[in-house]
Amino acid sequence: MTETRIVLNNGVDMPAIGLGVYQTPPEATTDAVTEALRVGYRLIDTAAAYLNEREVGIGIRDSGLDRSEIFIETKVWISDYGYDATLHAFDKSAGKLGVDQLDLLILHQALPSRFDLTLDAYRALERLLADGKVRAIGVSNFMPEHLDRLLNETSVVPAVNQIELHPYFQERALQKVNTQHAIVTQAWSPIGGITSYRDAPKSTFDDPALLDIAQQHGKSAAQVMLRWHLQEGRSVIPKSTKPTRIAENFDVFDFELTSEELATIDGLDTEVRGGPEPDAITLEAFGKEIPEAGRTAAANP
Ligand code: NAP
Repeated sequence: MTETRIVLNNGVDMPAIGLGVYQTPPEATTDAVTEALRVGYRLIDTAAAYLNEREVGIGIRDSGLDRSEIFIETKVWISDYGYDATLHAFDKSAGKLGVDQLDLLILHQALPSRFDLTLDAYRALERLLADGKVRAIGVSNFMPEHLDRLLNETSVVPAVNQIELHPYFQERALQKVNTQHAIVTQAWSPIGGITSYRDAPKSTFDDPALLDIAQQHGKSAAQVMLRWHLQEGRSVIPKSTKPTRIAENFDVFDFELTSEELATIDGLDTEVRGGPEPDAITLEAFGKEIPEAGRTAAANP
C-alpha cells in the first residue's frame, strides 16, 4: 500500500488519510490509535473537546514509531477562544498528548456569534506558528463568509478547513472557496458516518450506487467513498474503533475509480447537512470546560 500525502500551503507535508477519534471513548482510544499506526496510518485527528487526547498520546508512544513519523492534529474548543485562552489551550492539548509540538492545530468552530473571540484565537494560533509550537494552523466548520472575514482580518491563510463532507453533503461552493485560497479541504464524516449514527433518512453505507461501484472493484462502500475523496484531492479522517474497519479504511491505494464513477458519486449530493449548522454553535449552547493537562483523568470524570 502506498500512502498518499498532501502538501499544505506552507510547505508542510500531511498524510492524506488519518484516523478520526470523535466519539471514541477514552478507554478504546489507545488501542484504536496503536492499531491504526500498526497498519500504516500516520495522521491522527483528535480535539480537546473529544476528551481523549491523553489516550491518543499514549497510543502514539506505544506504537514505537518516532514522533517525527506521525502527524498529530487537534482542535481548540470554543470555550478556550481568545488570545491568552487559546495559547493556554495549546499547553493543555500538548500536555495531554505528551508532545512539545503539534503538526496541525485548528479552531474547531467558527463561533460567528463571538467572531471577535475567534479572531483572537486565530491570532494566538499565528503566534504559536511563529514560535514553532505548531507546524501548521487551520480551521474547521468555516463557511465562505467566515473565511472571508478571517482572511481580511488576520495574516496567515489557514492550511486546512475541516468540514462535514461525504457523498450526501458535498459543499461544492465551499470547496471551491477553499481551493481558491489554497486551503486543503479535509472531510469529516468522510464515509457519511453521521448519516448512520444520527437520525438521517438514509445511510451512505446502504446507498445502491455506492454498493454497485464497490462491487465492481471488490471493495466496500466505505472504501469507495474514501477513494472518491482522495481522487478529488481531499484529506480524509475516517473513524473506527474496530481493527477490521481501521484496516479496511486504509486499504484504498490499490484501485482507481473511473471518471464516470466519480461523476456518479458527485451526483449523490442531497445538500442536506447531517451535523449542526455552524451558526448554531454558540458558547451558550455548546460551551464546556476543557480540563487542564495536569489534572488526572479520575479528577475529570
Ligand atoms: P465517519 O468516519 O464517516 O464514520 C464513522 C462511523 O462509521 C462510526 O460509527 C464507525 O463505527 C462506522 N464505520 C467506520 N468504518 C466503517 C466501515 N468501513 N464500514 C462501516 N461502518 C464504518 O464519521 P465521523 O466519526 O463523524 O467523522 C470522522 C472523524 O472526523 C471524527 O472521528 C473526527 O475526528 C472528525 N470530526 C470532526 C468534526 C468537526 O466538527 N470538526 C465533526 C465530526 C467528526 P465503528 O467505530 O463502530 O467502526
